[in-house]
Amino acid sequence: MARVELNDVGLLYETGGGVSDVSLSIEDGEFVALLGPSGSGKSTLLRLVGGFLNPDTGTVVIGKETVAGKGRWIPPERRNLGMVFQQHAVWPHRTVAENVAYPLKLAKVGRAEREERVREALELVGLEGFADRRPETLSGGQRQRVALARALVGRPAALLLDEPFASLDAALRDRLRAELGALVGRTGVTVIHVTHDRTEALALADRVAVLKEGRLEQVAPPREVYASPKTPFVASFVSDAALIPVEAASEKRFELKGSGASFEIGEVLAPYGLSREGTLALRPQDVELVPGGRAIVRAALFMGDSCEAHLEWESHSLRARIPIEARIESGDRVRPVFTSGTFFPVSQTTIQDPNLKRSQR
Ligand code: ADP
Ligand code: MG
Repeated sequence: MARVELNDVGLLYETGGGVSDVSLSIEDGEFVALLGPSGSGKSTLLRLVGGFLNPDTGTVVIGKETVAGKGRWIPPERRNLGMVFQQHAVWPHRTVAENVAYPLKLAKVGRAEREERVREALELVGLEGFADRRPETLSGGQRQRVALARALVGRPAALLLDEPFASLDAALRDRLRAELGALVGRTGVTVIHVTHDRTEALALADRVAVLKEGRLEQVAPPREVYASPKTPFVASFVSDAALIPVEAASEKRFELKGSGASFEIGEVLAPYGLSREGTLALRPQDVELVPGGRAIVRAALFMGDSCEAHLEWESHSLRARIPIEARIESGDRVRPVFTSGTFFPVSQTTIQDPNLKRSQR
């Protein structure tokens, strides 16, 4: 096990995408989720750590060793990492045990120890008794567990997971998610887990690193990214908030930019100060609905324990979490009442996160 450190890492593809100025330290035994929408650079960062890409700038450090940058380059097979990707890359023509034993064979571990460690790894992922099976006779979830056993068998410095559950159905994903949490706790391995699924990131990680367009927007424990987003983007991606451009009229009263319609907020959170212009982040659970008003219900979705109303409000889209007893239907006219909201001053599109180390240059 080891800590993993990215110092001011940047990589630009010829096509323009990539990552820039990424500084992130993952502590020994810590579980960090890289969370962001598709194309935000999650896989690129993971490949930079894994050694499948070489950074244009900055350094990657695993344990005490600089593995990339400053003229150094340690190839993937010598970084001592375990990796699992979305598409379970298990070899179909080899048995489960042969698949799992492969990294040990490469490392020239003797036969007796190999067999013992394969048995341990299979037990760890709940596949004891599957050693002689061929992957094609296994379910998708079982194959993903084979990949996980193979990633863990070499006792890696860190485990890199790239959307490992994305191709599985919801029930299986939930179960493997819970199992992964328990398993990682038992092994104490350092984990970098890439996902676009915020519930997965919030449920599993010690800290969540939110990526937008190749840059880190916030790195913090799950409760903190959820309750105290640093940027409008984090509020919208992590807690589903609507982002509404406003002008502040008083401490609790705002005017919508454009229409000038005015409304009040019960509790205004303004961690970065209140200025005249800004963006309000309004989460579905912060919105209540009263009958009669200028907002139109476009859809009312039954969610099991609540309903989610999708509103058109003064040419903005807004969502409200409402009790299932509320008889709200598509086409109804309602007035949104805001219990709370977070204000971001307009100048503050990105805010410096003390968790993000600044460039040493
Ligand atoms: P994510 O994993 O978050 O979906 P990626 O790291 O795969 O994002 O991609 C980040 C950006 O870099 C995207 O704009 C993507 O199109 C681009 N990109 C990814 N891989 C390559 C590549 N091999 N060549 C060129 N552009 C790429
Ligand atoms: Mg990806």
